[in-house]
Amino acid sequence: MRVTIFGTGYVGLVTGTCLADVGHDVVCVDIDAAKVDGLNRGVIPIYEPGLEPMVKANHAAGRLHFTTDAATAVGHGDVIFIAVGTPPDEDGSADLKYVLAVAQTIGQHIERPVVVVNKSTVPVGTADKVRSTIAAELSARGAGVAFDVASNPEFLKEGDAVNDCMRPDRIVIGASNPAAVEKLKRLYAPFNRNHERIVVMDVRSAELTKYAANAMLATKISFMNEIANIAEKVGADVEMVRQGIGSDPRIGWHFIYPGAGYGGSCFPKDVQALAKTAQQHGYGARLLDAVEAVNDSQKGHLFELVQRHYGTDIAGKTFAVWGLAFKPNTDDMREASSRRLLELLWQAGAKVRAYDPEASHEAQRIFGEREDLVLCDSARAALVDADALVVVTEWKQFRSPDFQRLRQSLADGVIFDGRNLYHPDEVEAAGLAYYGIGRGRSI
Ligand code: NAD
Repeated sequence: MRVTIFGTGYVGLVTGTCLADVGHDVVCVDIDAAKVDGLNRGVIPIYEPGLEPMVKANHAAGRLHFTTDAATAVGHGDVIFIAVGTPPDEDGSADLKYVLAVAQTIGQHIERPVVVVNKSTVPVGTADKVRSTIAAELSARGAGVAFDVASNPEFLKEGDAVNDCMRPDRIVIGASNPAAVEKLKRLYAPFNRNHERIVVMDVRSAELTKYAANAMLATKISFMNEIANIAEKVGADVEMVRQGIGSDPRIGWHFIYPGAGYGGSCFPKDVQALAKTAQQHGYGARLLDAVEAVNDSQKGHLFELVQRHYGTDIAGKTFAVWGLAFKPNTDDMREASSRRLLELLWQAGAKVRAYDPEASHEAQRIFGEREDLVLCDSARAALVDADALVVVTEWKQFRSPDFQRLRQSLADGVIFDGRNLYHPDEVEAAGLAYYGIGRGRSI
């Protein structure tokens, strides 16, 4: 099938590439000319495992095209996806300006019947706004073209996005017109071969499903961080508690890791946007507000541990920081916990030597040149002249350090473990002080 995708970010680029990989003819369109130019030369703007060879292979095979030419792109697709950003507005609600700008562009250029599919995460009712925006453009130019608007929220995880896209747990299609449903089922048939993964529902339920999924996952994380904070106060070890509850299949092992708070481009904004939608409909979403509040304070927790160790004596100290991305296997630093930590360390007069396997260029872009930040090209280089180590992102390569060597490198001999990667006994046996999340017994 002929497919057009607006937006070549994490979602648009991965989706377009996976659809091309199963044989569809895909045009990806973006307003960022540098990005499009780079993609046409084989430069992939994001780090996502497995993506680069797939983009190059499908581009070379002539199934995946990149352009800034919206008119040509609209003319290409039988199905047109909207996969542009929906950042938070000042009041926490989702800002739809990019989505509606695309709807306007589609309305200006469609000449034949299409299905417009919203893949961006958008509040309930957005499909109606997209429909009326396209209709207004069509009527402004006196054109009468039939079109459908469907919702097809995306559930991929950054860091494993290609895998999620090629082997989705489920494909949610929200559409009222059976012809649109059939078209999308045909599009996704290659991903739906060994068992049924497609869940068809009305548009509003599909829009809400995406928020419900992210809010549930964020809730699990904040819940576990709350338990961690209680564990710290009462002298218990949340890692033991985690093992004690995860084996209950009603609870499960996933998403019950305490840590330095959730970040990324989705959970923070989606929890807030859902709470805002609820409020706009006269419902105070108390649980969602609490999930957000717990997360916000958790992002400051690593710095609290630093203060607990050093008191007010932080100025002039140098902290090695391992991990800047909001989670492993991505270069994405949007809303990352590392950002809060770094700002607090700098405010206290400390210096930072940071290493992340993929996010250094992003950190450089965000923070620019500053005297109190050195971006290092290895975990070991970050330790040079450092007084203490803070682990913020659980990249695999940080999991088994040589603690004896760390003891020799770190002048103050202290580790702040924001992801509970280490066993306190092992760290302490090497003569280091250890602070983890919710590990009351060691504090
Ligand atoms: P992103 O910021 O990485 O990419 C968005 C892209 O859209 C950018 O390249 C931007 O230049 C482009 N764009 C903006 N306006 C445009 C226009 N008028 N025409 C063409 N291109 C335009 O965003 P993302 O992370 O891919 O997220 C996109 C949507 O998907 C968001 O609503 C997000 O909430 C949702 N989502 C994201 C993830 C994720 O893990 N990143 C997962 C599921 C859903």
